[in-house]
Amino acid sequence: MTAKILVVDDILPNVRLLEARLTAEYFDVTTAMNGAEALAVCAQDDCDLILLDVMMPGMDGFEVCRRLKKNPATTHLPIVMVTALDQPSDRVKGLEAGADDFLTKPIDEIALIARVRSLTRLKVVLDDLRNRASTAVALGMPDPFTAALAEDGLGGRILLVDDRPASAAQLAFMLRDKYIVEIEPNPNDVAAKVASGAYDLLIVSLGLQGFDALRLCGQLRSQERTRQLPILCLAEMEDRTRVLRALDLGVNDFLMRPVDGNELIARVRSNLRRKRYADKLRDNVQASLELAVVDPLTGLNNRRYFEMHLSILVKQAVDCDRPLSMMILDIDHFKGINDTYGHATGDQILKGFAKRVRKVIRIPDVICRIGGEEFVVVMPDTNMEVAARIAERVRAEIEQERFVVPHSGAAVGITVSIGLAERGDDDLPDGLFSRADRALYRSKSNGRNRVSADAA
Ligand code: GH3
Ligand code: MG
Ligand code: MG
Repeated sequence: MTAKILVVDDILPNVRLLEARLTAEYFDVTTAMNGAEALAVCAQDDCDLILLDVMMPGMDGFEVCRRLKKNPATTHLPIVMVTALDQPSDRVKGLEAGADDFLTKPIDEIALIARVRSLTRLKVVLDDLRNRASTAVALGMPDPFTAALAEDGLGGRILLVDDRPASAAQLAFMLRDKYIVEIEPNPNDVAAKVASGAYDLLIVSLGLQGFDALRLCGQLRSQERTRQLPILCLAEMEDRTRVLRALDLGVNDFLMRPVDGNELIARVRSNLRRKRYADKLRDNVQASLELAVVDPLTGLNNRRYFEMHLSILVKQAVDCDRPLSMMILDIDHFKGINDTYGHATGDQILKGFAKRVRKVIRIPDVICRIGGEEFVVVMPDTNMEVAARIAERVRAEIEQERFVVPHSGAAVGITVSIGLAERGDDDLPDGLFSRADRALYRSKSNGRNRVSADAA
């Protein structure tokens, strides 16, 4: 999919120039000649990145940027300010308005394309997260979008990788009011250190003595635990091509030396804001996934999870030519328990039941609550003989001790009927389940409180 870039500038030749360069790189380009037009395009949700001129009559670029970043619907759009001014104070003003980056006119083509590529790549990830989070919201999760707007990018731990003591001390000094900074002069120790998850952001000097900082960045990007960690590079003016290489490797941002303290803080803030925004969405999606597959009463996985997971386990068993068994458990005369002690007590017993079963099965066995008082345990790598022993252990565990219900103090004895089946050579998950269910039916009709195995 090609990314759509919105170019905003009040001077037509500037628009045309950027349009031509981006089109040549196969980006899809839309244009706007003033702030109001730009806001209208963004409101249509019709772009992936904005190149925004600062000086425009009427609403200037800073104002457009501020408005887009304040709106939950557009706050995630990456904005690159395009400016004729190149004073650190202007960059800071833009970063404070929420801009993600800067390009100075006349625009350097390589820098332009590298920035656009790296920011659109981030946007693809963010779009996917936003979609999932929207679904989560539709499922009843709290809205993470508005909450994320409040994130100010302040606070947190930074690891600073710089082997020049004077430079490291100076950078740490610039950050010390707003962040906890730790200096690491030895690049060999960095990967292990950040994998601990103790840092919110990494600053790496590209000019390390006798060590290729790009290799370190690449390594951190390829590892699961550090893939999301924001990395900011520090470079000398003559390092330009390495900076572009760093962006290609997935480094989030860079600063040129000599470093301006305000710009450093502004860039750290905007990277942390982006990171925490994505984290909030990710947590939200994670929580909603759990909500969808976990039974709130017992904390066990539910039927939906069981159905998805069973096919995976069966396929694994088939692929590795390993046995797999399943038991279905159904509490005996549970309706009577409810009628005698009340539904609330019934619920407490279901909870206690789940806990006891979990205690006697083995760690790789997967237990789910698939209905009111029906449970299933899938046992990977287990043949019928072993499964029968486990099932008998479960049956005895339930029978041997009454369930004492908290608060009411009632002591209720229950029993459970169990049906067992082992996967056959050409079993599909459904077939396996039906055979265990038939065995369960036999346990019920033969008097309950027993284990029956499918004869296959
Ligand atoms: P059988 O020995 O044949 O399995 O008898 P049973 O009464 O257990 O079976 P039946 O399927 O007729 O009834 C199941 C009962 O389980 C009915 C329902 O009231 C109760 N039940 C189902 N879900 C819940 C629940 O979440 N909480 C409580 N307290 N009871 C439930
Ligand atoms: Mg039942
Ligand atoms: Mg029952």
